[in-house]
Amino acid sequence: MLSKIISEENVKEAYSLIKHAENVVIVSHMGPDGDAVGSSLGMYHFLKEINKKATVVLPNDFPAYFKWMPDSDAIVIAEDGLDKAVQILKYCDLLIMIDFNELGRVNVLKPLIEVSNVPKLLIDHHLDPDVNMADVVISHPDISSASELVFRLICRMGFAQQINKSCAESIYTGMMTDTGGFTYNSNQSEIYFIIAELVRKGIDKDLIYRKINFSHTESRLRIMGFCMYKKMRIYPKYHTAVITLTEEEMSRFQTQTGDTEGIVNLPFSIKGIVFSAFFREDKKHGKIKISFRSQGSFPANRVASEHFNGGGHLNAAGGDTRLSLRDTVKRFMEVLPEYEQLLNEVKI
Ligand code: 5GP
Ligand code: MN
Repeated sequence: MLSKIISEENVKEAYSLIKHAENVVIVSHMGPDGDAVGSSLGMYHFLKEINKKATVVLPNDFPAYFKWMPDSDAIVIAEDGLDKAVQILKYCDLLIMIDFNELGRVNVLKPLIEVSNVPKLLIDHHLDPDVNMADVVISHPDISSASELVFRLICRMGFAQQINKSCAESIYTGMMTDTGGFTYNSNQSEIYFIIAELVRKGIDKDLIYRKINFSHTESRLRIMGFCMYKKMRIYPKYHTAVITLTEEEMSRFQTQTGDTEGIVNLPFSIKGIVFSAFFREDKKHGKIKISFRSQGSFPANRVASEHFNGGGHLNAAGGDTRLSLRDTVKRFMEVLPEYEQLLNEVKI
């Protein structure tokens, strides 16, 4: 049995919203990762199973290695044609927002959501959600993926039977990717109870791992090699690694969406690295996109929120700047000494 992490009140409220809805739109965050796509599609397959109309709308495109997911080709990408997203949001009667804690994270969808007056349900696992975003807020920062919350909510509403294989595959993808294949944030025993249930629903977890991890482009591996050989700096005093990529470098390696995903984790194979920062130019959005990862107690999200307009989880966070790449890294090196003590305290 799973413990009842979601409150009885939240379950009732969410059930009531879903019961009275016919046409549901599900949205998740910009730069969709496995949990964003997985939790959204998990909810989508469940809603379909109980005969609701459902559409997933994401702000921008998601990596090719998630495109095997059932009905991922039905996902509407707002950046590819905002008019379509406008129409879909206009005619829905319930909005379910998953895996983000503030509307800034949905970029082009933010103004559309702000003007929408349909009921809104938020399912999230980030710290400090903006509770004004939604009528019902299911927020559990202690849970390692939004996909796990979707599973828990469906079960608590009494629909465990309605989780079909497609729903289970989507949920498993989110759980697996948000824990780095169950290598971090993954010590809660109930995660493995849920996995057992998903396997019983017919998922092939080994195949899902291969579809996501062994299906990359040659360019991805090449750019990773380039980053390791030429672009990674190690600062032993701060147990920190820094990697940067310019647009020019990414185009030289014919980088596609998702190709740079995971580069930020590579420095952790070096003994003693506690903090890893990855800075990449994003001219299309006029910013430098930053990914932070940490080990142990070092709060990557504090660095992101205190200095880089961002946030996230203790060990996985991000942010952005409107500075040049050079100035962004300069700023990072200026603020790093503030964290020297915390960085040195981590036992790994
Ligand atoms: P990634 O490095 O994979 O883009 O993001 C890792 C995590 O950091 C995300 O799951 C999200 O929680 C958080 N994050 C990334 N970028 C931002 C941002 O710009 N703002 C906030 N608030 N959180 C972010
Ligand atoms: Mn997530």
